Amino acid sequence: MQTNNSARIPQSSTQEQYVRHKAEFDSAIAGVLERSWFILGQEGEQFEQEFAAYIGVAHAIGCGNGTEAIQIALQSVGVGHGDEVITSPHTALFTVLGISATGATPVFADINPTSFNIDPEAVAAKITPRTRAVLPVHLYGQAADLTPLLELTRARRLKLVEDCAQAHGATYGDRRVGSIGDAAAFSFYPTKNLGAFGDGGMVTVNDAAVAERARLLRNGGRSDYYHHPIVGLNSRLDEIQAAVLRVKLRHLDSDNAARRQRAALYTALLKDSRIVSSPTEMPYGRSVNHLYVVRTAARDALRDFLAAEGIDTQIHYRIPAHLQEAYAHLGYRRGDLPHAERAADEVLSLPLWPELSLGDAERAARTILRFRAG
Ligand SMILES: *Cc1c(COP(=O)(O)O)cnc(C)c1O
Repeated sequence: MQTNNSARIPQSSTQEQYVRHKAEFDSAIAGVLERSWFILGQEGEQFEQEFAAYIGVAHAIGCGNGTEAIQIALQSVGVGHGDEVITSPHTALFTVLGISATGATPVFADINPTSFNIDPEAVAAKITPRTRAVLPVHLYGQAADLTPLLELTRARRLKLVEDCAQAHGATYGDRRVGSIGDAAAFSFYPTKNLGAFGDGGMVTVNDAAVAERARLLRNGGRSDYYHHPIVGLNSRLDEIQAAVLRVKLRHLDSDNAARRQRAALYTALLKDSRIVSSPTEMPYGRSVNHLYVVRTAARDALRDFLAAEGIDTQIHYRIPAHLQEAYAHLGYRRGDLPHAERAADEVLSLPLWPELSLGDAERAARTILRFRAG
């Protein structure tokens, strides 16, 4: 009989990151404080260059958070009032809020039940004369299937904008996500694979004119101190966060490898159980395992069982976007997007972060093996 008195295992934690690289963080932050230049300065510019090089893209534009990065990416490629943007219902609602902030209407296409990412055939069926862009989400760290989406958007003259908030460093074929569509958006929310000590975001793009527009938009639409040629917003990545993110970017590949190692351990330990890893890793790319998610019809019972054993979990996401109250006016009903609805009913995110001890991951998995539904 296993005892219950070991320490609680959280679903996610950021504290060990700071402790592990404390000297690097402290000197990076002190450098900003000593210069006392806080907005749009040298740290931000250097981080933009380093992040662009990492992703494999010509331009990176720092933003205040991932939601506004989505808004700015969409507006930079021409999305606005009266347009429709097709996206996944199985995502953080913030994806959809980024669409709404442009004035466009979100349209939801169901997910592929194996990858949990938007299904290109479902997208094709949702295109109307008002469709302007498709916004796939690289969910849980795994790329959406971009080849059919690229073919579709090119053939129909639509824009493809990637939501990379959970997929810093993930690949599709031999390229990193964020370098493949017409533009892309990243979040640096603290628990993301690349996380700041506060809010932050980034737009990545290859086209120089789109990049220029994103730079104007994030800085109030201002071209110089006096002139605002377009209506922008105030969404800038500050110097302290940029300095922190420059430190963390140096460790991103090893952090992602640590996430993958823990995910592989879960998969190995759970492989004969009925509670299996979901989504499956697709052959077209390499996940960075932002989350490790299992699915079971007894999800809530499993969650309670694990909580009683000191293991915290989370649900990403319990309510699909098309059934959120905020979007009731769009008129979707339960049953409209069955794969996304079933995922929302069944998914459970296990403890996962780069410093999670292998012993704790094993304890979580072995506890799941003791779970008997109903
Ligand atoms: C975190 C997240 C966002 C929003 O990013 P913020 O920085 O919190 O605004 C958008 N989309 C997805 C898929 C996310 O996980």
